[in-house]
Amino acid sequence: MKLLIVDECSASVAFMRNVLAAAGYADIIAVSHFDQAMAVLAASLESGTPVDLVIMGVDLPGHGGIGAILTLKSHHDFEDIPLIAVTQRSDEATLDHAFSAGASDYIVKPLSAIELRARVRSALQLRREMVKRMQRERELEELARKLERMSNLDSLTGLANRRCFDDSLVKEWVRNGRADTPLGLIMIDIDHFKHYNDALGHVDGDACLRRVAEAIQAEVHRPGDMVARYGGEEFAVILPNTDYPGSLAVADNIHASVARIGIEHPDSTVSCVVTVSIGVASGVPSCGTTPEHLLKAADRALYQAKESGRNRTRGLFLPGPEDLRQ
Ligand code: GH3
Ligand code: MG
Ligand code: MG
Repeated sequence: MKLLIVDECSASVAFMRNVLAAAGYADIIAVSHFDQAMAVLAASLESGTPVDLVIMGVDLPGHGGIGAILTLKSHHDFEDIPLIAVTQRSDEATLDHAFSAGASDYIVKPLSAIELRARVRSALQLRREMVKRMQRERELEELARKLERMSNLDSLTGLANRRCFDDSLVKEWVRNGRADTPLGLIMIDIDHFKHYNDALGHVDGDACLRRVAEAIQAEVHRPGDMVARYGGEEFAVILPNTDYPGSLAVADNIHASVARIGIEHPDSTVSCVVTVSIGVASGVPSCGTTPEHLLKAADRALYQAKESGRNRTRGLFLPGPEDLRQ
């Protein structure tokens, strides 16, 4: 553990250093001025071995004792480092000020070796427990972030999952409605995927889903856009601030991208490779309509794409609330 002694009295510094070194503390830095102490604290933090305990004479020149404690403890990076105040005076007012400023303990001069060792030992014990607790907190926070990420991801494709899609669609609906901008939605369904699975098995089926997911994702570029696995072999793309022609253009790119990867389909009536049917809808969210209206419109367009022969894109332009409500 790293100890920092700050005292303008060289005799006190020598005493404390000797006592603590004899007690087995190997990493001791001693300075005579508060500014030097702050520099040591910063450098130690930077090098990844922060100071674990500050033992500070509170009759320092410059910042003047209690002010020095206050400055150190109000620094965001150093507020958790325990500080033992070493003082000439044991009157209640001085000690009260020292504790209020953030000291965790105090020693009154003349220094006693037994007292110094005991106070340092218990301060470091507290420090160890605090470091352990902070480490656990960091791990728990990281775990919570990981769980949050996982709960929004589809484990097979790595895309956003249905839950994340539902949340985002509502958020984007509200956001685009407020900004009076169009929201585009693309629904994509793999053609004759049941036949693909029946012919090649589920392992190949899963691999196919992953490659189609990548092909879709490759065509969606803007930061607010989102590609999700909507269900089984269906995908959805949310396109904020994207009008009907823009949404159709993205859908055409996706269609071409899936065709380009050319995954062989042994049992499709429309092509010798895996194809997709796509439904597109776009509209400005308005009062009296909900995200479900946009979903239904994109779904209707997808149905039309399937009905008219698969392996194609169909769209519904939604210029006003009346169309969205249908
Ligand atoms: P259509 O052209 O009308 O869309 O026909 P389809 O066969 O693609 O549609 P259908 O809804 O009849 O079948 C979808 C199939 O998708 C059923 C199931 O075998 C497959 N499927 C759904 N989820 C998964 C999955 O996670 N992995 C695999 N391998 N297959 C899946
Ligand atoms: Mg389907
Ligand atoms: Mg299908």
